[in-house]
Amino acid sequence: TAARWLAACGALMAVLAGAVPPAQAHAWSIHHAAMHPTAFRDIAAHADVPRYTSRGSVDVATRTVTVEQHLEWVNTTGVTVTLLPFRLFANLPDFAGQTTIVRARIDGVPVGYRYNPTRSIVEVILPYPLPQAARVIVSLDYRTTIPSGLGQTKYGAFNDDGTTLSFASAYPLLAMSAGGVWQTADPDTKGDLVNSPIGLYDVTLTIPSTHRLVSTGSMIALQQTPTTQTVRVVSGLQRDFAFVLTTLLPTSATVAGTRVTVYAAPSEENRAATETLTAATQALRLFNARFGQYPYRELDVVAVDAESFYGVEYPGLILMQDRTVASGKRLESTVVHEVAHQWFYNLVGNDVQAEAWVDESLATYAQVIYRRAYGGEDAAESELAELQRQYDRLVERELDAPVQQHMRAYTLYTFNVLAYAKGALFYEALRNDIGPDAFDRMLLQYVSSYRYAHADSTSMRDVATTICACTVDALFATWIHPSLQRRLP
Ligand SMILES: [Zn+2]
Repeated sequence: TAARWLAACGALMAVLAGAVPPAQAHAWSIHHAAMHPTAFRDIAAHADVPRYTSRGSVDVATRTVTVEQHLEWVNTTGVTVTLLPFRLFANLPDFAGQTTIVRARIDGVPVGYRYNPTRSIVEVILPYPLPQAARVIVSLDYRTTIPSGLGQTKYGAFNDDGTTLSFASAYPLLAMSAGGVWQTADPDTKGDLVNSPIGLYDVTLTIPSTHRLVSTGSMIALQQTPTTQTVRVVSGLQRDFAFVLTTLLPTSATVAGTRVTVYAAPSEENRAATETLTAATQALRLFNARFGQYPYRELDVVAVDAESFYGVEYPGLILMQDRTVASGKRLESTVVHEVAHQWFYNLVGNDVQAEAWVDESLATYAQVIYRRAYGGEDAAESELAELQRQYDRLVERELDAPVQQHMRAYTLYTFNVLAYAKGALFYEALRNDIGPDAFDRMLLQYVSSYRYAHADSTSMRDVATTICACTVDALFATWIHPSLQRRLP
């Protein structure tokens, strides 16, 4: 996320017998349609990731999507499970929407389910304990309704703004399990909300002909009637699924086999869309070289009415605050930040609630990398000076603290300065310490080592230590970790 408060910146029977139930008709190769050719082999190497197959329709008048979702899941928690908790983000107060479960089945057999008190979690009750490595198909029929016209007061990524209906994380998403324990606490909404493993999505939606479906995937089939269209999209390996229906028109360019498309309101000589597209394509080209090839065939950017963010990232999809796109103010930095999140948050995951600095500091530092590459040292210094100014103000207010904290431990202000600005300044200090060549190799190695996995607060320290064959413990201890608060002279 780039927060607005910052200048630079968001078959039961078979299983009982221990056998594997028949899988959904689900050929791996269909997902190649969404993956960059250099990433094709990654799919076969991730055979046990959760696979969501959904079919449904969107009623624009009632802002409601009605879906039959099948999750093919292999128990990789390390323990025998008796229930499966799914997150229903729409039911969080800050989403102001509603997801209702209509029916739950396990391998085709109806089963019970229950909501937690806030209805942000639904637990599907397994009819039998599911051991480690067993496979199951969890089917949930559900309806999700998004609010209308609440982009200025609620979450703009989950809203109908009159031009675009945004359905971010609008489906039942299996909660994360860590060490055999399901993580089901409601997220703190100061920052990003969605912690999830890499998965695959195959989604077919019938929508009105009046709108265009833009999603975190690629279209592989289209059937049209005079008034409707049925669109099938598949995803690559990614952590979440989001889609929008929009009447905005596209502007596109291609970078190294990836189609970048911006959807923005008409402006004089298409300036808003063109500037957004230029920033996105330049960022993509640079980060392909610096972080490793972007793994998808598409990257979409859609302008929506929003107040609580300048930009917010989904896999292969960025939602931008429409005012930022229209005005051009801090547009480039925000687009660059959100494009960098495709590597830091999506390709390399992290706990965005417990260790939000891990991706936010890198996405913010990517702005400095971008300035240095395209504007030279002066441009990098100017970006760093702005980050330093934010951090200095926080120090003046005697609010300096470690970068690494749980989201709940920050205030909105300290989160935005510590995890973003101070975290990015830390990376500049690390670059000065180990040298630019080692720093560049460190970033490539980090992405390569943690690709499709989760990194944590110590991962980069370990990679840096290996790359520079030196110790960077003191630097990390001084800037990042709670045990040692940075004291400025
Ligand atoms: Zn961010």
